[in-house]
Amino acid sequence: MDANREPSFRESVDMMFSHAAAMGDLPPGLEEKIRVCNATYTVRFGVRLRGRIHTFTGYRSVHSEHMEPVKGGIRYATSVNQDEVEALAALMTYKCALVEAPFGGAKGGLCIDPRDWDEHELEQITRRFAYELIKRDLIHPSQNVPAPDMGTGEREMAWIADQYKRIHTTDINGNACVTGKPTHAGGIQGRVEATGRGVQYALREFFRHPEDVAKTGLSGSLEGKRVIVQGLGNVGYHAAQFLSTEDGAKVIGIVERDGGLTNPDGLDIDAVHRWITANGGVQGCPEGTYLGNGAVLLEEQCDILIPAAIEGVINLSNVERVKAPLIIEAANGPITAGADMVLREKGTVIIPDMYANAGGVTVSYFEWVKNLSHIRFGRMQRRQEEARHQLILEQLENLSEAMGRTWSPTPDFKQRYLRGADELELVRSGLDDTMRAAYQSMREVWHSRADVKDLRTAAYLVAIRRVAASYRAKGL
Ligand code: GLU
Repeated sequence: MDANREPSFRESVDMMFSHAAAMGDLPPGLEEKIRVCNATYTVRFGVRLRGRIHTFTGYRSVHSEHMEPVKGGIRYATSVNQDEVEALAALMTYKCALVEAPFGGAKGGLCIDPRDWDEHELEQITRRFAYELIKRDLIHPSQNVPAPDMGTGEREMAWIADQYKRIHTTDINGNACVTGKPTHAGGIQGRVEATGRGVQYALREFFRHPEDVAKTGLSGSLEGKRVIVQGLGNVGYHAAQFLSTEDGAKVIGIVERDGGLTNPDGLDIDAVHRWITANGGVQGCPEGTYLGNGAVLLEEQCDILIPAAIEGVINLSNVERVKAPLIIEAANGPITAGADMVLREKGTVIIPDMYANAGGVTVSYFEWVKNLSHIRFGRMQRRQEEARHQLILEQLENLSEAMGRTWSPTPDFKQRYLRGADELELVRSGLDDTMRAAYQSMREVWHSRADVKDLRTAAYLVAIRRVAASYRAKGL
């Protein structure tokens, strides 16, 4: 690689892929087939707004159709371009394979700053963009299923689902054409928090393996670990909130658009988040010390660095100064291929994006299954489960009475044991299980092969093996 030129995002992803693929045993030609993006559709459409026609440019890229539907979010940002969308679509292929979500990889994007438009205008723009994709089956329950990404959320997904159903009025599975919808419009509990929750579960799983933790020079559990989070959007906020309130980690720094905020005793994430929502940035927030140049926090001493915003923030220009021994990529592609190489040599442990942020698509998978089955998870079993637990407790109480003893469970145990799982609990359980299993599959490769020195290469090897197996099964 040219030391002076940073590769593009797509080149970065391709380089990381090729580095791993070279260690696999793919039949001739299959490496290229997996690596390349199958197709990218570009659409330019006009919407009449504020008295004139505005032209917007959008993309939907399909990286791999080894499984269908293909899956991946739709991003609204001014940085959106074909290269970015293709890189993100490729990551979706590998991510879905790694967490065993039965999808190919795709991604969409609209080159727009959503803050420039009001809600009604955004609805018109979104519906028009969706229409362009729907009429080409680039949004479709069995072919191509978008989801939220940067700049989009439940609201946009509800508009897209509604637009699909207006066009396909008799499709009984219409709701499954997009995931990340609000619960009142066919969504699933726990989808909004899913990516941040997945980051938490990934770290918990990492810290369950002292051997792996030792590679970072850290020890013990998440309790008391000093964390810096870049980007307090949906992913960064939830990850920081869960890690600090449920695992005892201390978030000592936050990097936002307008600067950074530090507090060596740990920031109150909810309070900071409320401040950002009300004031548009961290400046002036009384929870910590404000820093105009927030980016320097990426180079600060901490135990865990969580880049949770955009791609390429750790690159050849700052990587030498990055000190965190453990980086978990909550964003897609926050570390460029060049920086990745430097960090690998330094011995920094990186929990890679395709694993770390897979919580979102995992819960999207659950939502899609829910939509296709037309029933909320737990609806049939919950009360029956409770009734059976009640029976056991009654028997235990009878037994203790027959033995001349009086025993009864503590009210807390009784309440927790009796309660049948609701949808949110089932979603969290499925997500936790997925994150544990995917980590173990990466870890197995990481520890069993002397030539595999990092988790990213291990993750690629697992994903590539699975994608290759799908292609083989299809006769390619
Ligand atoms: N945009 C998210 C991602 O990058 C979620 C994709 C999905 O749920 O399909 O993984």
